[in-house]
Amino acid sequence: MDTPKVIDGKAVAAQVLEECLSEAEALKAKGVTPGLAVVLVGEDPASQVYVGSKVKKCGELGFHSEKITLPAETSQEELLAVVQKLNADPMIHGILVQSPPPPHIDEEAVVRAIDPRKDVDGFHPENVAKLALEDPTGFVPCTPAGCIKLLEASGTQTNGAEAVVIGRSMIVGKPMALLLVSKKSNATVTIAHSRSKDLAAISRRADIVVAAVGRPEMVKADWIKPGAVVIDVGINRIEDASRKSGYRLVGDVDYNEVAPRCSAITPVPGGVGPMTIAMLMKNTLQAARQLSC
Ligand code: NAD
Repeated sequence: MDTPKVIDGKAVAAQVLEECLSEAEALKAKGVTPGLAVVLVGEDPASQVYVGSKVKKCGELGFHSEKITLPAETSQEELLAVVQKLNADPMIHGILVQSPPPPHIDEEAVVRAIDPRKDVDGFHPENVAKLALEDPTGFVPCTPAGCIKLLEASGTQTNGAEAVVIGRSMIVGKPMALLLVSKKSNATVTIAHSRSKDLAAISRRADIVVAAVGRPEMVKADWIKPGAVVIDVGINRIEDASRKSGYRLVGDVDYNEVAPRCSAITPVPGGVGPMTIAMLMKNTLQAARQLSC
């Protein structure tokens, strides 16, 4: 294997967004404008960029959006009051509080305060349960939902495949594993994590490897069975003096080493990243549809 298929996340995301645009138009024709509220507490520069692009994407699709920027010293009670107000706002169908909040905020309590019918991140316990129950009215976290779209778009056969998900976070690893093991995907799934023994051997069993760890270029060529499909969720900044910014982005997979060994792989950037925002728009439409009927 030396010419892997590079799974183009930008192209797949563009298709998803095109579908979103026509669905938004259909909803608007029925008098419903999808609305998303994004709450940012503090001035974390990466969070500001993420929030900015979410709001911009809403504008491109003709959604109503509200960006609520709160100072870093906002109290838990003040933040919860903002969430309650958004829960009651009929113009708003989706609410997300950008992660990570400042350390004095109890993120779990904030997630639980969001009306689960507006929880377009899919982090509320009710939506976690719906994912496990395979209830389609729940919201699936955007990044793993995007990974599944990429597998579909690349023609990857998940039915009966051995899948290894590296990482067990509630944002990526666990929901990814649930999606892969669901009756839609039918994969046989292993979740590996920081305490797993011999990760390389576990990973080598897989027809599909999903890396969601946050360790630059951790997954090496000898972790990959020849012909496997590799989905790299990681976004890591590493120093690069040749760049004007002084850094570049790499995934959790050593792309140059791994790519020649696999049948398909997502690049970083341009793989999973663009899918996350596209799936957020899709979830907002789902919320608008479900709340308005
Ligand atoms: P996290 O820190 O919450 O979880 C990381 C997981 O990796 C943990 O479950 C941990 O057990 C596991 N882990 C840590 N070190 C390990 C090791 N040495 N070996 C095996 N497992 C190990 O991170 P997260 O939120 O799941 O994000 C993971 C990566 O994905 C990060 O790089 C993040 O930036 C990226 N990410 C990308 C997107 C996107 O849109 N593309 C979205 C979310 C997260």
